[in-house]
Amino acid sequence: MLDAREARARRQRELLCALGRPLISFCMNIPGPVKDSPLIRRGFFEGCARLDEALDASGLTVLHRERKLAPTGPELLLAADADAKRLKALCLEIEDRDGLGRLFDLDVLAPDGEKLARSEPRRCLVCGRPGRDCASRRLHSVPELQGAVREILLGGLLQADAARIEELCTHALIEEVETTPKPGLVDLDNNGAHRDMTPDTFRRSAGALRTYWGECFRAGVQGRADAPETCFAALRRRGKEAEHAMLSATGGVNTHKGVIFTLGTVCAAIGRLWSADAPCRDPKRIAEQSACLCRAAVEADFAAVRERGLPHSAGERLFLEFGLGGARGELASGLPGVVEYALPELISGISGGLDRDEAGVRALLRLMARGTDSNLVARGGPELAALTAEKAAALLRSPDMEAVRAFDRDLTARNLSPGGCADLLAVSYFLYDWERDAPSSQE
Ligand SMILES: [Zn+2]
Repeated sequence: MLDAREARARRQRELLCALGRPLISFCMNIPGPVKDSPLIRRGFFEGCARLDEALDASGLTVLHRERKLAPTGPELLLAADADAKRLKALCLEIEDRDGLGRLFDLDVLAPDGEKLARSEPRRCLVCGRPGRDCASRRLHSVPELQGAVREILLGGLLQADAARIEELCTHALIEEVETTPKPGLVDLDNNGAHRDMTPDTFRRSAGALRTYWGECFRAGVQGRADAPETCFAALRRRGKEAEHAMLSATGGVNTHKGVIFTLGTVCAAIGRLWSADAPCRDPKRIAEQSACLCRAAVEADFAAVRERGLPHSAGERLFLEFGLGGARGELASGLPGVVEYALPELISGISGGLDRDEAGVRALLRLMARGTDSNLVARGGPELAALTAEKAAALLRSPDMEAVRAFDRDLTARNLSPGGCADLLAVSYFLYDWERDAPSSQE
C-alpha cells in the first residue's frame, strides 16, 4: 500500500516536472484492505467518464493521461492545460455531486507540486457527519464501512446505467430516423410513404420517451425475483403511459408505438439480467430474456384473437390471415430479426469500414429481405410484400445507394413503408452500442 503511494507520488513529480502543468490524481476512496474488485473498478470507470465529460464541457485540453489497474486500487493521472484552481473547482463538483462522488478522491496538484485543499471537509461514508471525526475515533468497523461502500456503489451504478440506457436508446431512435436512404420510410431525404410525419416528429417523440427507457430498466432490476409475467404486466402499464407521452409530443401521430413495446422490453430484460459489477451486454442473452418476459402475455393475446376469430386491428387481421405475429411475435420468438439479421449486418458493415449510416441502410435491407414486415403486408398485401423482399435482397447483393434511392421512390409511390423493420433497426443500433459501452480493462 505504502509502496503504491510512493510510486504514485514519484510519478506525479515526474509528470509535473516534464509537463509543467497541473495534475489531477484520481483514486477510489475505499476503506479496508480490499482496494480492487470488479465493482470498485466499475465505480472508478464511472468517475473517469464523469471527469472526461466535465473537462470536455469546459473545453479543457487533456495533455497526458495514464491509468493503472492494480490490486492497490485503480488510479488515473491526468495533466490538463488549465488553471489548477479551475481544475479543483471542477473536481469538487464531481466529488460532491452524489453518493458515488463521495467515493472519488480527485486530488489536484499545482505545477509546483502543491496539493490544492478543499474548503469543506468530506462527510463520513456511514453516518454522513462532516469531518474526519468518525475515522480518527474509529467509530465504524471495517465491515460497516465496506457495507456502506457497497451500497453506494450499487445505487450509483444502477443510476449511471439507467442514465446511459436512456442516452443510448434516445440516440438509437434519432439515428434510425436519420439513417438515409430508407425505402418508404421517413429519413433525411424525404418523408417516404408518410403524410403526417417528418424527422422532427420523430425527434420530438424520442425526446418525450427519454426517461421511459430508464424506467423499464429499473422495473426489470426491481422485478428480478418476480415471475416474468408479473414483471411484464408492470411494463405494459408503463408502455401505455409512454404511448400517451409520444402522442402528446407528436400531436397524435404514432411514431414509436412498436419501439415502445420492443425496446422497452429489451431495457427491462437488461434490468433482469443486471449486476452492478458486470451488466449483461450480450445481445443474444438480452433477446432471450426479452422473449421470456413477454411470451406468456403474447401467447395469451394470440389465443384470444384466434378464439374471437374477428380481428380488432390490422395487426390481428394479419395474424389471423397470414400467421404474422408483428412486433409481438418477433419479440416472443427472441428477436431473430435483430440477432440473426440486422445486428450481424451492422457489425460486419462497420467493422468492414462502412460508416454507420450505410451499415444501417444495409441492416434495414437485410430485415426487409426477410419479407415478414407486417406494415408492408398490411399496406400492400402478401404478393407486393414478397416482391419488396426480393428487391431488398437483390440490393444487398450489389450495394448501390442510388439504386436504394430509386427503391425509396418506388415504395413511396406505392404507399408502402416497412415500419416494423425500422423499429428493429433502432433496437439493433441500441444493442450494438450497449454491447460496446463497457470501458476496456486494458490501457
Ligand atoms: Zn460516521
